[in-house]
Order: sequence, then C-alpha cells, then structure tokens
Amino acid sequence: MKTFYGDDQRRHDPKGFLSSGAPQPNPEKPERIDRLLAGARAAGSSIHHPANHGLAPIAAVHTPEYLEFLENIHRRWQMIPGASQEVIANIHPINRSGSYPASAVGQAGYHMADTSCPISAETFQSACWSAWSAVEAAETVMSGERAAYALCRPPGHHAFSDVAGGFCFINNSAVAAQRLRKQADRVAVLDVDLHHGNGTQGIFYGRADVLTVSIHADPVRFYPFFWGYADERGDGAGLGYNYNLPLPRKSGDDVFLDALESACRRIEAFAPQALVVALGLDAFEGDPFGGLSVSTAGFARIAERIAALRLPTLIVQEGGYLCDELSDNLTSFLTGFGSAV
Ligand SMILES: [Zn+2]
Repeated sequence: MKTFYGDDQRRHDPKGFLSSGAPQPNPEKPERIDRLLAGARAAGSSIHHPANHGLAPIAAVHTPEYLEFLENIHRRWQMIPGASQEVIANIHPINRSGSYPASAVGQAGYHMADTSCPISAETFQSACWSAWSAVEAAETVMSGERAAYALCRPPGHHAFSDVAGGFCFINNSAVAAQRLRKQADRVAVLDVDLHHGNGTQGIFYGRADVLTVSIHADPVRFYPFFWGYADERGDGAGLGYNYNLPLPRKSGDDVFLDALESACRRIEAFAPQALVVALGLDAFEGDPFGGLSVSTAGFARIAERIAALRLPTLIVQEGGYLCDELSDNLTSFLTGFGSAV
C-alpha cells in the first residue's frame, strides 16, 4: 500500500491551546509525522509526494469565504496592534444567524470553533498539502489500487465547510470522499478516531450519496460535546445516512469491535463503491487523551474487519498523539489491513 505525504505539511507548528481553560502546549505537533512515517515504513509502505492539486478539490467541500479566511487571516491579524502571534479567536457568535463580520477578530470567531486550531503564517499551506495527500491517495484508489494511505497532518475531521476546530482546518476525509464521488455513486466514510467526526458529519449531513459513520467516545463528557450522539441521523435527503456509535469511556477492543461490526453492516447495506477510513489512532489505551482503551493488537483487528468489506479503501490519518506506541499502532493497522486483502 502506498503512503502519500508532503514535506510542507510540517510547516504548521501550533504552539498552544486551552484545556479546561488552562494554557497547554498544543499536542498536534509536526513530530507526529516522523512517528507515522516510521510506522508506515515498518508496514512495508512506500512513501510518495503528492502533486499540488490546487484549490478545486478543497473548494468542493469548503466555502469560498472560509478558504479566503484561512489563506489571509494571519497577515491581517498581524496588523492589529498587540495581537497574538497565532490567530486564536476570543469571541464567537451565539449562533450563525447574525451577519458575517468584516473584521479579522470577528471572522476568527465566526470561522474557529475553539482554541485548539491556532493559525500561523504556515497553516494554510500545510493544510492544503495535507488535503492534497488525501486527493493523491484518492486518485490512486480510483486508478485501481485496492487501498492507499494518506498521512494527513494537520488532521481534518473536526473541520466543517466553513469552521476550523479541534486541530483541524481542511477536512481531508471529506475532500477525499468528494473526490472519490467522481467515479463512485456512493461513498462511505467510516471514522474510527477517538473523537466524533463532527465536521465530516456536518459536511454530508443533508446528502444521501455519502454515508457517514463514526465510532467514538461518548460526547456527553468528551470533545466535541455538541455532536456525536446516536440520535443524529442526517437531515432532509440525508436522513438515515449518518450513523453514530458513541462508546463509554475506556471501552477496550471487544466493545470497539462490536460497534465496528454494527458500523460495517450499515456500510454493507448502503453498498458503496468506495470507502474512506478516517483513521484516528487516539482511541489507543496509551494515547494522551485517554478516552478509549484500544490496544496495539486491536488496531490490526479493526483493520481486518474493515478490509473484509472488500471495498476500494482510502485510509486518511486523523488524530493519534505522541506516545511510545504511535508508530506501532499505525504499523499494526496497515499490516492488519494488508494481511486481510
Ligand atoms: Zn481525535
């Protein structure tokens, strides 16, 4: 299986965020890339640099004003006397029914869900390259390869069509799913990250051509708090095409695999022609976020079940934070997938 990754994805290097109100170092560090590359190589994957695919595949799921914001907000922010080095919003609309603000501070609040997605001068280009890794991997799957792995970092699944959040700016999994729609009438996105894939759900919530399924820690006491509940089933034409499986905190392999079985049955009933796996490795028992308790061997079992769907599959990296086993967890997943095809 080929891995896709571009060096410019390292340039985004966020410094801080707030956790329960306290300033903390941002855990979405470029070093994650080194661990994940090592994990991919250990699984026998070859590393390929994506081409610059331009803004068109990104604009297929994000609004023009949001992309303009991401590209220009850091430069505008620096013109504000006394402003922070990184763009971090300090005001948010109560809801989105008000007017679109003209000011940099107002737009930051409008387009940023939380404090964990600080924007530097490097962020937009890094996020674009991350998305282009997903696009290139999608092209590879569409050209007939059974599977490909996009080492997407920054991650994407918390980004809505016009909102950044949770370390995410451009929704790589959504970009990939939309790209696959060029060939496939129906695409499924299966999100196995510790956190609910709220941005991906939001982007496809009203559509019946992309099924979104997410297994994650119950948001009742966990990020993203406002989404990820079992009663969120889609809207309008998309009703019945979103499926959430929230799990109790600290659930281990067997509980996760039971939920995965249910998720896979729903995907089989949808009969997609292609699958995007939003692969968070932060469901790991030793991940700093500590929400679920999947083991290293458990990732191989998860991959084997997903591979048994026998679909052209694009694996998109989402979360998974610095811990000794981060490389091994990716190796376990990719090896498990490869052994089952
Ligand atoms: Zn996560």
